[in-house]
Amino acid sequence: MSFFFEVLHTSKKSRARVGRIHTPHGIIDTPGFVAVGTNGTLKALDNHVVNESGLQLMFCNTYHMLLQPGPHVVKAAGGLHKFIQRKGPIITDSGGFQVFSLAYGSVADELKSRGTRKTNGTVLKITEEGVFFRSYRDGKKILLTPESSIEAQKDLGADIIIPLDELPPYHIDPAALRRSFERTHRWEERSLQTHLKNPQGQAIYAVVHGGTDLALRKESCEFLAARPFDGYAIGGSFGKTREEMIAMLALTLPHLPLDKPQHLLGIGDLSSIERCIPFGLDTFDSSYPTRAARHGIVLTKQGPLNLTKTCYAQDFTPIDPACTCPTCRRFHIGYLHHLFKASEIPAQSLASAHNLHFMIEFMAGYRQKILDNEI
Ligand SMILES: [Zn+2]
Repeated sequence: MSFFFEVLHTSKKSRARVGRIHTPHGIIDTPGFVAVGTNGTLKALDNHVVNESGLQLMFCNTYHMLLQPGPHVVKAAGGLHKFIQRKGPIITDSGGFQVFSLAYGSVADELKSRGTRKTNGTVLKITEEGVFFRSYRDGKKILLTPESSIEAQKDLGADIIIPLDELPPYHIDPAALRRSFERTHRWEERSLQTHLKNPQGQAIYAVVHGGTDLALRKESCEFLAARPFDGYAIGGSFGKTREEMIAMLALTLPHLPLDKPQHLLGIGDLSSIERCIPFGLDTFDSSYPTRAARHGIVLTKQGPLNLTKTCYAQDFTPIDPACTCPTCRRFHIGYLHHLFKASEIPAQSLASAHNLHFMIEFMAGYRQKILDNEI
């Protein structure tokens, strides 16, 4: 099955829509949650558990796979799906996000350092050709170009791939943002051309840039929509608050074609998803649900619950009696609390399995609400 997207229903109340992305490894119902499996696994969960959970799209990071084990190893194993024993669809990114975010830190880090553009030395040089960075593993100098990123993603063989882009720091002067913006478009164009020489059944999403400058965002949508990308991911800086991000999305998304899927990069907390679905966004990737689980935070319809709190020591009920995840079917909160207190590794796996299941069900609930025109 080759890649295509169909919209099944658009809400009468907003731009929210229910759709289906068809890929060579199966269907992704949208709006859908995309779990992050940086190194080819969700942290604390093996891919058998993930396959059984019904997760429809998994995000793997090219940057990490590039440094370890190397795309040539994955290719020799028969591609990422075979190497990691993943049955469903996979999306990989270009590697650029990690190169730049490891160098500049998050917006929060940047604000803490009072807006100075600091790098920790991992990005050595950005040129028209690509970006030179130093491997955090062995200090080796690596040149990542639009062509080499796409070649690596061809070796990995994910269902959906992403062109190389530059992530400028949040604090950047308008002239420098403009230069970075134009170079990113040239990099995306080169990535697309490299992909089109050998599509091998993969789809390629463009990354919309422009930071919090709405005129640039519109220009980015128009530039990318004129090219044969299969979908759009919203990237670049979203600003320093959720409100700034919402304002940017409200004015950016109407400039994208409606017949292709739209992905929000790196945002998947419950409140943001709730605010973003009415804009018509289709997929959201986030490591939040599994990261929270590893710290003992489990998600419920009544809000997050911290399993490490003493008040749960003698709670002999499941996290949610109605939840059908493997954890809630077998174990009660008192035992999970004990495992966290005793620092036993299964604590993280059991909490992660619940949060993953919760996110999948949570998105299914949103799809029903959109079908019912409630959102
Ligand atoms: Zn559960």
